[in-house]
Amino acid sequence: MANVVLDRVTRRFGGGVAVDNVSLEVGDGEFVIFLGPSGCGKTTTLNMVAGLDSPSDGEIYIGGRAVAHTPPDKRDIAMVFQSIALYPHMTVFDNIAFPLRRARVAKAEIAERVRRVAEMLKVEPFLDRRPHQLSGGQRQRVAIGRAAVREPAVFLFDEPLSSLDAKLRTEMRVELKMLHERLGATFIYVTHDQVEAMTMADRIAVMRDGHLMQYAPPREIYRYPANKWVASFVGSPAMNIVEGRLATRDGKTGLEAAGGAFLPLADGLADRAGRAGGTAAIGIRPEALQVAGDGAADGIAVTGTVHATEPVGSDLFVDVRLGEAAGGQGQQIVKLRTDPDRDAAMGEPIDLVLPHGKLYLFDAAGARVHP
Ligand code: ATP
Repeated sequence: MANVVLDRVTRRFGGGVAVDNVSLEVGDGEFVIFLGPSGCGKTTTLNMVAGLDSPSDGEIYIGGRAVAHTPPDKRDIAMVFQSIALYPHMTVFDNIAFPLRRARVAKAEIAERVRRVAEMLKVEPFLDRRPHQLSGGQRQRVAIGRAAVREPAVFLFDEPLSSLDAKLRTEMRVELKMLHERLGATFIYVTHDQVEAMTMADRIAVMRDGHLMQYAPPREIYRYPANKWVASFVGSPAMNIVEGRLATRDGKTGLEAAGGAFLPLADGLADRAGRAGGTAAIGIRPEALQVAGDGAADGIAVTGTVHATEPVGSDLFVDVRLGEAAGGQGQQIVKLRTDPDRDAAMGEPIDLVLPHGKLYLFDAAGARVHP
């Protein structure tokens, strides 16, 4: 059993705080991904679990044992890095066998364990080759094999796919997820790629500036982001965030956006975001926005103008400038995902609907207050 617990872990460097009071538990056998932009502290966190770095404050437990100051080789973990450091002069077999030979495991057992791992990772046909005779993806599998052969309770991955091309990355995502299921081990994985996180993780730990912003399963993070920052970080293209001031027009309370567009909110909703005169933000994902007509759902109707179009084959993305007056200062632009066959010419008027059921509302501090 190897759950991993971070208990109020902080790491300071000189004057800065790289990881700030982070607490979370990774369950035994769970696949958890630390996700966040560059510099958010995810690698530092992983390094502390690995034993390559120690917390300034707080404790780390692996399988119930306090390990904050235990050396890496005494932690029952294996680490796979972004840069694949295989021994170039050794065959694939010898590369995978290396940790077992160092641990003086019997020869017959080494052969058996290497074969098992090689079969699982589909590198069996290449056991006699050297690393330069392999593709990038095959090399990455061998590197994972070298980590897996020791049968550690916890696997740590630091952006292991970032050096691969897009197609291979997609394939490896599926394979890593299957590998996790076969091994039944605890996986902790660091990436800044939200697609990787959404497709592989049981739970995602979203980090920003050393803080844990949200820790939840991918679908929950997508559907119920804790705050405006998580909402716009997870999802591609990003959620539209319309910032504005709460105001009343013609007896309706709503959001007055930059550029003058007014988005009336359903009764009771505006109260949750704050008082009239205060700031708030409405969020809507590009795929939830609708074009008026088209049997659009019940929602907030806004007029706009086509600002730019971006056909991507399966979809058409349209940037729409909200409000009546074109070319006004600080105008709000939202992205709409629509049918690739829709005609949308730049400068044309387009009327949008923000369906009530798909709206997010954030208060002045950025916290989600609806749904
Ligand atoms: P990336 O994806 O770019 O690797 P990250 O989220 O993994 O980013 P960290 O590498 O954990 O971020 O760094 C977090 C913060 O701590 C950064 O501001 C970084 O500059 C700082 N930092 C990391 N290691 C050190 C160090 N050894 N000395 C001083 N500052 C450090």
